[in-house]
Amino acid sequence: MKKLRTIILLLCALPLCFAGCQGETSDSFFAMDTYMSVKVYGSEQAVKDIRTKIETLDRLLSPSDGDSEIFRLNRDKTLALSDDTASLLQRSLQLCRETDGALDITLFPIVEEWGFISKEYRIPTRERLDKLLEQTGTDKVQLSGSQATLTGGARLDCGAVAKGYAADAAAEILRKEQVGAALLNLGGTVLAFGSKPDGSEWSVGLADPQDSASYFAVLRCRDKVVATSGGYERYFIGDDGKKYCHIIDPSTGMPADNHVTSVSVICADGTEADALSTALFVMGSEKAEAYYREHGVFDYVMLLDDGSVSASEGIIGSLQLTNGGTARRIDR
Ligand code: AMP
Ligand code: MG
Repeated sequence: MKKLRTIILLLCALPLCFAGCQGETSDSFFAMDTYMSVKVYGSEQAVKDIRTKIETLDRLLSPSDGDSEIFRLNRDKTLALSDDTASLLQRSLQLCRETDGALDITLFPIVEEWGFISKEYRIPTRERLDKLLEQTGTDKVQLSGSQATLTGGARLDCGAVAKGYAADAAAEILRKEQVGAALLNLGGTVLAFGSKPDGSEWSVGLADPQDSASYFAVLRCRDKVVATSGGYERYFIGDDGKKYCHIIDPSTGMPADNHVTSVSVICADGTEADALSTALFVMGSEKAEAYYREHGVFDYVMLLDDGSVSASEGIIGSLQLTNGGTARRIDR
């Protein structure tokens, strides 16, 4: 009789446990200068921890918050960094070198000059940009353990990698909480963690530059970060009627202008995905293709301003264009 009661109790408890384990918890908040949304199946704790972690990272990495480590490093030129800032910096410096400077985390003086920090936009003179370019370059950043030192007037902007790093930190929390399914959109950097609760792949929409509420393509994937860089995300129209976007070509100090509308990089590592989406945007179509052939441990989708789409071999089979068209395949 006692055994039967135990079985009945267990049978009643199981569905509750299943609902509790698989229930969906969502959150959305503003951090890193953008809107973020988090959806986790089976762990309320993970949702709380992820928000806390991202808000902490934001306070460490913001170039404009007077208390952040990046702000204080830019001001004081030397600083003992937290583990997170030091590891992000170390990883970013490596990616700056690997991309031959297309990614450059020392562009803060140039980004600021164009008004992308204050949002008071202006077109700097060529002389002014040449002067400021003398202050850029990762050779002016020394990182020894956790001690960072900037020379030659260098100042850092981690905006191109911070959201990807946040996605990696979130993935670590999800693994710790043994979550099997979660979907995070960190202002355009999407973490498709595990697979959907029914075991199928996540569908990630790639934003349509004409209408941010819709998509030009949908990508099916699991356990990947999809990081997108788009000229349409932040730009201004100058008095000359030209469009100036927030992604800067470090070799000229000018906004990248090579017919690329957006680049999405898909890879398991969020920091790398974020870094490469920015770098491939700067490189443009041909150089991006060459870079992929040489380094291709990632996949990417590139939308050009004539509407054409190219996609690397690893994901082209999982990509569907919403206009029914086909993407050009890029083989390794
Ligand atoms: P993302 O949206 O990830 O492509 O990052 C773009 C942001 O990174 C910009 O808003 C700038 O703050 C900064 N940035 C612009 N150009 C570059 C570049 N070539 N390398 C690194 N950071 C950049
Ligand atoms: Mg980026």
